[in-house]
Amino acid sequence: MPELTPIEKSFLVQKFAKLRFGPLHVVGYSVAGEETVIQIPELNVCFDIGRAPYFSLTSDIICISHSHMDHLAGLGYYLSQRAFQGMKPGTVLLPREIERPVDQLLRCWRDVERQGTPYTLVPMTPGKVHEVRRDFGIRAFATHHGGTSLGYSLVSVREKLKPEYLGKTGPELARMKREGIEIQYRIEVPLVAFLGDTTIGNVFDQPDVQNAQILITEVTFFDTDHRIKAKAGKHLHLDHFVEVLPKLKNEQIVISHVTRRTGIKRAQRLLAKRVSDEDMKRIHFLMDFEGARDEGEVEDAGPPPVDTKE
Ligand SMILES: [Zn+2]
Ligand SMILES: [Zn+2]
Repeated sequence: MPELTPIEKSFLVQKFAKLRFGPLHVVGYSVAGEETVIQIPELNVCFDIGRAPYFSLTSDIICISHSHMDHLAGLGYYLSQRAFQGMKPGTVLLPREIERPVDQLLRCWRDVERQGTPYTLVPMTPGKVHEVRRDFGIRAFATHHGGTSLGYSLVSVREKLKPEYLGKTGPELARMKREGIEIQYRIEVPLVAFLGDTTIGNVFDQPDVQNAQILITEVTFFDTDHRIKAKAGKHLHLDHFVEVLPKLKNEQIVISHVTRRTGIKRAQRLLAKRVSDEDMKRIHFLMDFEGARDEGEVEDAGPPPVDTKE
């Protein structure tokens, strides 16, 4: 027998989060520097792709926030697996500035794999809307992570009859429509907004960010002596989050991308000291598995953190 190395920690199982808010679920995994992939299954959208865990394959649309590996690594695998399994080509929204290198990367994979994996890249810029259907669009907005980074909001679009026409009969309305009269107006309801990686800035003044029913925001650092790390990596620190919280009208706020240095339990305790009990009721940690009834199988996973880009 050779000398055996004892295993101190098992990396065999990865646990995924699943939070439910009314008709929508937030499914995913997000740890700073390691992996971020967050899915809204009912809306067919995944924010970032992480290492492309199996559940991510079921989303037709992927919204990439920025080019750090922990958010992007699995893109080639996602597209290839979907082709392999006979699913329709994935659509990938991404910052315009990284469209070319990502396209080159994916072409490389096609050559390496010798499989003509199809895909659609949609270059996005702040303010641009990708219309998925007449009643559903995805709007990009700028975030502050150094270089190019975007957040996305999933917007439900409803058309309603203008109040001045409420008394009209069906045939009358049909005639007016034929005559080219605008009888309806649009209502946009931001359902979910995702910030990707960002530090504090005017992203928190975006109406979609302030009003989304569900806001998914990073808060990477919580400890006082991590302020310097938050500044260097252009991430949010608890101090920033506490500062912007009064602006946020969201029914639910999901915190993602917490550093493993702090851990969820400690982060929750530090947060609870700074915000009201009322606010605590609407703030959730994506990776809080305590009391979760419907998460994936798990164990704490991953090597110790290093001082690299997250
Ligand atoms: Zn990150
Ligand atoms: Zn990043």
